[in-house]
Amino acid sequence: MEFIIIILLPVLLLMAGSGILVVSQVTGFMQSSSLNQRQQISNGIIQQYMVQIAMAQSQLFQRSRELEALSSKLALSNQELAGLNEMKTKFLSMVVHDVRTPLASIRGFSEMLIKKMPGEKEAVYLKNIVSSTDQLGRLISDLTDLAMIEAGKLKMEKTQIDFVDVARDIVPGISINAQKRGVEFTVQPYPGTMLMGGDRFRLSQVLMNLLNNAIKFTPAGKRVDLTLRAEGRMLCAYVKDSGIGIHPSETKKIFEKFYQAKHQKDEKLRKQGWGLGLSIATEIIRSHKGEIGASSPGLGKGSTFYFRVPVNS
Ligand code: ADP
Repeated sequence: MEFIIIILLPVLLLMAGSGILVVSQVTGFMQSSSLNQRQQISNGIIQQYMVQIAMAQSQLFQRSRELEALSSKLALSNQELAGLNEMKTKFLSMVVHDVRTPLASIRGFSEMLIKKMPGEKEAVYLKNIVSSTDQLGRLISDLTDLAMIEAGKLKMEKTQIDFVDVARDIVPGISINAQKRGVEFTVQPYPGTMLMGGDRFRLSQVLMNLLNNAIKFTPAGKRVDLTLRAEGRMLCAYVKDSGIGIHPSETKKIFEKFYQAKHQKDEKLRKQGWGLGLSIATEIIRSHKGEIGASSPGLGKGSTFYFRVPVNS
């Protein structure tokens, strides 16, 4: 019995060991083959990505070349546009200059004829000629200002001025205009003085524009009121009217050049202007480092236009 154990035990152990070896070899082989498979799959995915990246790169390159071509085209058209713009400005100032002189003589001769006591009809016709030449004159000076603004040549000639004097100078003319149209024009008591550094002619142009607009857009029987006051270091002018008002969506747009309020239905009033006055006023006030604006409770409810300029602009 002992003999059998001595002989068989090592044989049995040998067989068990070789069995374990075979099993471990087989599982090892299976594991390594599944690892290989996974690696192959990830290699495949990486390759796919690399192909996609290469394609994207070539597309990017193509697009950037297209962009380069487009931007050089754009630069060329910008150059052309700048040239055309300069031509337009030159043409505008030439036309304006050439029209101004004959216009002045038409106006002068018409006024002379009015003084010669013509018949009633003729006097009406002559007055029409005078008012039409005035309208054209205003358009021409607005266009001149516009051309200067666009060419960056609207220069302010600033001196020490008293803004109360500026207002006092223009109020009589405005009162006559208001009277003619049946609008009641009032001026709140002036502050003592409003000394400031500014362009007298240009600032009075702004105030006149706001007052004349207020009278134009206010029906007979209603009111326009002017208030001047100092607020801290600012000089403020408020022109309040009880006229046709402005739609809330347009209180900013009316300061753009050639913009006339679309919600206002009065065609006749629209034809009396070109939508330039407020854009020019904006430029003048900007040159004085100030601000200009309008507010209105709505159509038919009047409006208030204002500007503020620092006393030492
Ligand atoms: P214009 O009066 O010659 O059309 P403006 O630039 O002075 O040009 O004004 C632009 C527009 O703003 C006017 O056409 C009008 O629609 C609107 N507007 C200006 N002032 C008033 C006002 N006091 N009340 C109502 N609308 C106004």
